[in-house]
Amino acid sequence: MENGLQEIILIKTGEIALKGLNKGSFEMVLVKNIKRRLKALGSFEITKAQSTLYIKSRENGCDMEEAVARIANIFGIAAFSRAVVCEKDFADICRKGVPYLRGALKAAQTFKVVAKRSDKSFAMNSPQICTEFGAVLLEAYPHLRVDVNHPDVTVVVEIRDFGAYIHAGRIQGAGGMPIGTSGKAMLLLSGGIDSPVAGYMMAKRGLELSAVHFVSPPYTSPRALLKVEELCEAMSRYCGRIRFYCVPFTEIQEAIRDHCPSDLFTIIMRRMMYRLAQRAASREEALALCTGESVAQVASQTLSAIVCTDAVCEMPVFRPVIGMDKTEIVDLARKIGTFEISIQPYEDCCTVFTPKHPKTRPTLVEVEQAESAFDFGPLLEKAVAETTVKTISFGQAEPAVSSRM
Ligand code: ATP
Ligand code: MG
Repeated sequence: MENGLQEIILIKTGEIALKGLNKGSFEMVLVKNIKRRLKALGSFEITKAQSTLYIKSRENGCDMEEAVARIANIFGIAAFSRAVVCEKDFADICRKGVPYLRGALKAAQTFKVVAKRSDKSFAMNSPQICTEFGAVLLEAYPHLRVDVNHPDVTVVVEIRDFGAYIHAGRIQGAGGMPIGTSGKAMLLLSGGIDSPVAGYMMAKRGLELSAVHFVSPPYTSPRALLKVEELCEAMSRYCGRIRFYCVPFTEIQEAIRDHCPSDLFTIIMRRMMYRLAQRAASREEALALCTGESVAQVASQTLSAIVCTDAVCEMPVFRPVIGMDKTEIVDLARKIGTFEISIQPYEDCCTVFTPKHPKTRPTLVEVEQAESAFDFGPLLEKAVAETTVKTISFGQAEPAVSSRM
């Protein structure tokens, strides 16, 4: 950074720390994820000691603001601190700590100093460090007062094995488990508000996500598809890269319209979606599906409807927002930055041919009977054959050509 100070990011992993014998492999995945997310910003060195990960830039002029912003979105990190590196010498701590803390202390009225001394050979003990560094800060920033109970800023001085680190307190991380430590799921991603939130919640538990989206041209527009790709890109800030499957669904929807009772249209359509989503899941070696369904939200999300859709599933279906109110889902969508994209007014294939009076309590027997009026097999195979795939990741140019499934 400017004025020659070397910054470091100290990371606390939280839940991984409780993982016993598997801890090392979880940490390795986290380190790999951090490296991948920071790669575009320059070269970083990541080391581990005393259950903390240390991230240091190898070059000058690296964008630490952006690095910190990215780290805040990486699952598996419970908390982190952005600190200045000092020698284990009180004079050096004052020389570097005082200017480094200017930004945090300028706007504060009160502060306290906390010392953590894991290197017990350091000449001063913790109370001495607090008192003496506190006095130095008061002299440098005379507008401040000490408040040990409710300070605006808690200054932390950590004396560790390889150096001393000073920071203005911990920042909460994204929590959860590192992406990829829990296997892979296939998210049914619409352009709506709920499914991106559902994906985020499962990714937070360490699941790597792929996404499948159904389009019905010409009833749905290329712009509607772009919006879903944009959603995927926004999600990838948290979820890492996402393999995105786009399935042409028009002919299947037309066949349902032409051959099945209209009040069962939605439920049969959703069964077709689940069948195709499982095909994409197998291709990705994903072991579960994930959807944004919330019980009772719409006709296709009644318990009876869910029974009928689950009947075509051979893999578990995760519905993390199932018990959430719309307002709670919206709050989370805003927090993760997908809400503004989701509310762009483009049509989804689910709204094509929707009946005026969908059955809210379909029985499996009647749905299966209605479906057997037409052989959907060849159309499903055709949709699989015409599915396109691409990889979407945050801030990276997307490949121009997408491959077929
Ligand atoms: P969302 O806000 O996620 O669109 P919704 O409340 O609009 O959900 P539905 O339209 O009934 O509810 O969709 C329920 C779930 O089905 C979605 O959350 C999503 O997982 C999946 N889904 C709906 N439409 C599509 C689509 N075009 N492509 C892929 N998945 C879809
Ligand atoms: Mg929807």
